Amino acid sequence: MLKTRSGMSVREVLARMLKNIAYHNIGYCNVCGRISFFICTDAKTARNNMHCIFCRSSSRKRHVAKMALWKLAKKTASIAAILKNASQLKIYNTDTSDAFSKILSRNESYTCSDFFPGVNPGTQVKERVFCQDIENLSFPDESFDLVITEDVLEHIRDYRKALNEIRRVLKPDGYHIFTIPFSFDSGTIAYIDIVDGKEVQVMPPEFHGDWLRGKIAVYRKFGTDLFGILDLTGFETSVNFSRCVDRKYGIVDSFVFISRKTA
Ligand SMILES: [Zn+2]
Repeated sequence: MLKTRSGMSVREVLARMLKNIAYHNIGYCNVCGRISFFICTDAKTARNNMHCIFCRSSSRKRHVAKMALWKLAKKTASIAAILKNASQLKIYNTDTSDAFSKILSRNESYTCSDFFPGVNPGTQVKERVFCQDIENLSFPDESFDLVITEDVLEHIRDYRKALNEIRRVLKPDGYHIFTIPFSFDSGTIAYIDIVDGKEVQVMPPEFHGDWLRGKIAVYRKFGTDLFGILDLTGFETSVNFSRCVDRKYGIVDSFVFISRKTA
């Protein structure tokens, strides 16, 4: 049977499209820079779908793009336009297969990475594409204007080390724009704790899908104590909400963290 990239059959995707017909949206895709149609396949998880028919960017990705353009390239309408208007911006994205990577792969200022199984972290697998361990990045200090991590930090064993590394590779006043599972009503909830250097599962295990490894363990759901940790690490942080639908960009029910590296 013919399968789509999400693993669903074409018939299932069509059925879901019909079921969610009230949520589809015509708008401007700020990733590929085209008037587009955003397809909803599940209204409950709309932040992770509402895919652009051209570049496959999700609602979440367009929200990250909106924040990145707002903070770093105000006169640039889309990530695609960065190739022309703001090509000097040094961007590091911790995803090699997403819409950003597809569009910016020709831009010499763009670097991306994944954690490829069986490859030594720090290895360059092709031009400006790396295997990286985010707790120990191989990049020199102050390499980037922007670091993007989307739903990555919850899978990192020592996320404080990762935040220090992100800060280290950012230029002064550079931005870390990121998404994470987050509770605004509680502190961070650990699923896996580290006791005497060993991982101990302290909550029922949770996994997220990963295109390289199938599924990856969730170490924690972040909570309000993260703001203090970001502050101590040397970031000034705000959160941008799109709980109300931003129909222009097809952004639904999501929030994005924006951390600026302070002196
Ligand atoms: Zn697009």
